[in-house]
Amino acid sequence: MPDQITTGLTDAHRDLHAFIAGLPKAELHVHHVGSASPRIVSELAARHPDSRVPSDPEALVDYFTFTDFAHFIEVYLSVVDLIRTPEDVRLLTYEVARDLARQQVRYAELTITPFSSTRRGIDERGFMEAIEDARKAAEAEFGTVLRWCFDIPGEAGLESAEETVRLATDDRLRPEGLVSFGLGGPEIGVPRPQFKPYFDRAIAAGLRSVPHAGETTGPETVWDALTHLGAERIGHGTSSAQDPKLLAHLAENRIPLEVCPTSNIATRAVRTLEEHPIKEFVEAGVLVTINSDDPPMFGTDLNNEYAVAARLLRLDERGLAQLAHNAVDASFLDGPAKARIKEEIDTYTTTWLAP
Ligand SMILES: [Zn+2]
Repeated sequence: MPDQITTGLTDAHRDLHAFIAGLPKAELHVHHVGSASPRIVSELAARHPDSRVPSDPEALVDYFTFTDFAHFIEVYLSVVDLIRTPEDVRLLTYEVARDLARQQVRYAELTITPFSSTRRGIDERGFMEAIEDARKAAEAEFGTVLRWCFDIPGEAGLESAEETVRLATDDRLRPEGLVSFGLGGPEIGVPRPQFKPYFDRAIAAGLRSVPHAGETTGPETVWDALTHLGAERIGHGTSSAQDPKLLAHLAENRIPLEVCPTSNIATRAVRTLEEHPIKEFVEAGVLVTINSDDPPMFGTDLNNEYAVAARLLRLDERGLAQLAHNAVDASFLDGPAKARIKEEIDTYTTTWLAP
């Protein structure tokens, strides 16, 4: 009997995975360089043989096995070092879109850190043209719509904030696909309020505010992001669970959280998946979206994050379809475009569940 029970559960589980694989989705929190899969890294490494990153895909699997967070940062930076020319930027962006399209991602807001590239001497105009060229090609060839979030690498200080807001608001440079402005990197020792003038300028230029907050520090960082940076969505917001008033505020004001469960474990922001506060967010009525952050680096992808969410929230197909709706609702798409993807989600789900 135990065998039968196990088999039954496995089949149901397998069905849910197949459902997720075909479910049309939106991805709102995924980083450009952090999306470089071993396949993409291998191509980039082959172009730059002087790099210490292996170009052999099998060796790359070992290379991407992290011993701790410091090791992850080291590997991440070695991948950043492979992006040296606008053509590298184009290749990375276009191939990331291909990986998203394979997962039935119809729309993604990709977080790009232009400062990492411009400080390394990549021509800023060439950089913008490369991402835009990849965006248009991806939409035409894969049907995946990309939009950009330019984020400040917090650890690089106010100089990087100035550079990022300049690139995001200068009419001669600002790419057509840019919709939002963010803030990433470590939170400890990088208080959010100091970035207020830069967010003010980005918001005045029509960009939406989506800082990371409450990933590795307490709920006060999320309050800071709301109060000082005008946050419309919160990247992670994991520690919000420690503050019932904050949860109520997020729910009441429909401020979504971009939840990335596996990332939170990989970076040790949360100890185990079982301890992840996603359930508390849902119970408090907060609009939860599921995202992948730096998927290949954390050994995950968006489909796997949906499977994790299904397990933690005990969701069936309709529950998963609702999560997919949440991401579309929380996106910066216009009304008709949101309606189109949601209709596609509903049609897919109804067809799947039809007897
Ligand atoms: Zn992130």
